[in-house]
Amino acid sequence: QKPVPSDIVISRSCVPKPIDRLATEVGLLSDEVELYGKTKAKVQLDIINRLRAQPDGKYVVVTGITPTPLGEGKSTTTIGLVQALGAHMKLNVFACVRQPSQGPTFGIKGGAAGGGYSQVIPMEEFNLHLTGDIHAITAANNLVAAAIDARLFHEATQTDKALYNRLVPLSGGQRTFSPIQINRLKRLGIEKTDPTTLTEEEITRFARLDMDPDSITWHRVLDTNDRFLRKITIGQSPTEKGHTREAQFSITVASEIMAVLALTSSLKDMRQRLAKMVVATSRSGQPITTEDLGVSGALTVLMRDAIKPNLMQTLEGTPVFVHAGPFANIAHGNSSILADKIALKLVGPEGFVVTEAGFGADIGMEKFFNIKCRYSGLRPHVVVLVATVRALKMHGGGPTVSDCTNLELLEKGCSNMRKQVENARHFGVPVVVAVNAFKTDTESELDLICTLAKEVGAFDAVRCSHWAEGGAGAVALGQAVRRASEAPSDFKFLYDVELPIADKIRIIAQKIYGADDIELLPDAQHKVALYTKQGFGNLPICMAKTHLSLSHEADKKGVPTGFVLPIRDIRASVGAGFLYPLVGTMPTIPGLPTRPCFYDIDLDPETEQVNGLF
Ligand code: ADP
Repeated sequence: QKPVPSDIVISRSCVPKPIDRLATEVGLLSDEVELYGKTKAKVQLDIINRLRAQPDGKYVVVTGITPTPLGEGKSTTTIGLVQALGAHMKLNVFACVRQPSQGPTFGIKGGAAGGGYSQVIPMEEFNLHLTGDIHAITAANNLVAAAIDARLFHEATQTDKALYNRLVPLSGGQRTFSPIQINRLKRLGIEKTDPTTLTEEEITRFARLDMDPDSITWHRVLDTNDRFLRKITIGQSPTEKGHTREAQFSITVASEIMAVLALTSSLKDMRQRLAKMVVATSRSGQPITTEDLGVSGALTVLMRDAIKPNLMQTLEGTPVFVHAGPFANIAHGNSSILADKIALKLVGPEGFVVTEAGFGADIGMEKFFNIKCRYSGLRPHVVVLVATVRALKMHGGGPTVSDCTNLELLEKGCSNMRKQVENARHFGVPVVVAVNAFKTDTESELDLICTLAKEVGAFDAVRCSHWAEGGAGAVALGQAVRRASEAPSDFKFLYDVELPIADKIRIIAQKIYGADDIELLPDAQHKVALYTKQGFGNLPICMAKTHLSLSHEADKKGVPTGFVLPIRDIRASVGAGFLYPLVGTMPTIPGLPTRPCFYDIDLDPETEQVNGLF
């Protein structure tokens, strides 16, 4: 076999078809498409109304076993599978994938366009700024952060009357409330629209948010692996008059606004979600929202283009939506509902939409079902679970990369695959195991995984070679997925959202991770009581847990047992619509290794080509 060139060499060797041509091929009208250069376009949301009567296609979610830090090829398999279904089996297809974060691209993992002969192209466009959606989220998020600290400062340094007069300024001799201020008054139970008629008590209640600085849960964000921002002190300039505060950064892709983008169903719905986000609690125990800060309209303006899915293509010319990019360990890990819904209409009833859930089935897939499908109302037909020999050997106790045949180690490690197949089966959807073959794998190893997968309840198990061969290497997988999509399924959620918060967390911990129980540490206990009292107890759960183990400890491989899952704290993402328990010491902004990927990345000034991305 010929050696496979690097991802960027393969990506560059293929001339993408003009994106307007692809848009026409998939049934988009020219008015529905906004071109961003020659290889990317945004698609307007009106298309959902135009195709309202069109039945949806088949919906497939790609997930995986517990991965190694290098990734086991879920994105590569997502792309390989649509290339097989579309370019080789001649079905209508769409892949729906997340936009990569700059953190891993310049950090440890590299890009996320797939790999080898199964990629989204051009990969430099895909892996870098795309159409600016992540930048828009960073801008919107940090506008909220600035609004919080400025408001704390202004409230601390002004009387109620002075605050009121500035919040409702005189203009042409009159004071008028903005529509956002009228919404706030209504929520306070003050049914007045004339600013001159508020009583002293109403003026105080209206003007003073009275945020408890210790209760602020909103963090600044950056799309960079900058570990030194995990804890910082802000307000140290003398101009802030000693109003310092300990604060922290998260990575943009773990932000609530990213989750809002991924889970929203329309511009109107996004406006409502961006208004409902809770940033802190007042000293009297009331939740303070972005609408209270007056910033929700501005956020919607910043996110106006980001809400439109981005159209790109695979190496074999099949369509891809790239939209939203939450991590699956510290966020919910799934691309947008809007992209999936539009794609399902565009492919029609005989077509397939393949969407990807991040990391292993215990996190990305669990959140796909319990959060994304709950909000979208969509029901998947098939789960594709990606497995590799190298990761399964690691679960059997071997080193991360071992290139000698060791069936004993492999069989032991297949316990992780069994558990992840079981995890998918909890939701009642047929599972096809895709064994992503590496060139060091042997026939006997690949066969063993396929045999064991079928024994542990997979509908089918197929080895595939799409990384080395493109779509042709995933035709058997495509056929298995097609058969599975016709099999009976019995979809169900894992838990009822109306259960108490701790019960929902316990169900995930016990049924999906295999924990004996959970332990709520003091901060988490306090939040359970607070969120229940504030009326947020009936939201689904988005666990922030390591992706490198079924447990909370990254070095526990295989199927860990006999552990109690520690819940350190819980945050509420009320606008996105979930509660966010932090398991163990999980940081919400990654760091850089000693030799990050950026060492290899450079621009050739002669050709203007990007080198070193993978
Ligand atoms: P995941 O989505 O599971 O994190 P990716 O699809 O991003 O994983 O793949 C991770 C890396 O492994 C990429 O650099 C990709 O090119 C590479 N890769 C994937 N499958 C194979 C394979 N079969 N052989 C060699 N490299 C592969």
